[in-house]
Amino acid sequence: MVMDFVVFKGMSFFEAAPRMYQYIHQLFKSCHHCGRWDGRPSLYCICCENLLWKTHPAVSVDWVQDIRVSYLFHWVPDSDRQVSRLLLSLKGGRPQSAIQFYCEQFLARAEICGDLRNSILVPCPSHRGRDHALVLAEEFSKVLDIPVHLALERASDPGQQRRLDLRSREKIRFKSCSNLREKHVIFIDDIVTTGATVMAARRAMKGISGFEVWTLARRRLLAPDLTL
Ligand SMILES: [Zn+2]
Repeated sequence: MVMDFVVFKGMSFFEAAPRMYQYIHQLFKSCHHCGRWDGRPSLYCICCENLLWKTHPAVSVDWVQDIRVSYLFHWVPDSDRQVSRLLLSLKGGRPQSAIQFYCEQFLARAEICGDLRNSILVPCPSHRGRDHALVLAEEFSKVLDIPVHLALERASDPGQQRRLDLRSREKIRFKSCSNLREKHVIFIDDIVTTGATVMAARRAMKGISGFEVWTLARRRLLAPDLTL
C-alpha cells in the first residue's frame, strides 16, 4: 500500500487529488457518494445510483450556435456534489468498467441523430498522452462499431482548460490532420463548458456532412463571464 502511494509523488495537488480520491474508493469498494460498502460499475451504491438517474433521467441537448451538444449530466460544480464526485473519479483513475457503464447509459438514454453508418468518432485532442476523450470515444466505438479517428491536433494551446477564462478559451485552435470528406463527425469530449473547444473543432473540419458533440457533462459556471 505504501508503494502504491509512490505514484502520487511529484504531482501537483490538482493532479493528485482526483487520483487519490478514486484510489481510496476503489481500495474499499465503497460508494463514491455516501461511502457505503457497495461498489457497483456506476461507482455508487444502488440508492445513490437511483438518485443520480432521478436527477438526470435522460440525455439532454444544448445548442452551441448551430452545433448540437448531447450530454448525460447537467453539472453545476458548486451545487451538484454527486456529479462532481463522479467526474472527479472518472478523471482520476479512469476505471474502465465505470467509463464503459456511463457510455452505455449515454447511448441508452440518448436520442441518436445522424447516419451512424457514415459516422466517425473524433475525440478532443489532449494536452499530453492518453486522455479522457479518447477513452470515451473508444468505449462508444466498441458499442456502436463505428471507428475512432484522431483527426484533430492542437494548433495553439493556451494551457490547461480548467484554469482558463473565456477570452483564453477562445484562443484554442485545432487543425485537421485527416481527410474527413462527407463524414458525419461525432466529436467526443468528457466535459463541455463554454463551447469554445467545440467551435474550434468545428472550424477545423472542412467538407464534412455533419457535426455534433457527445459529452458526459455540460458544465455550468456560476461566474457570469464564464457562461455562454
Ligand atoms: Zn451511496
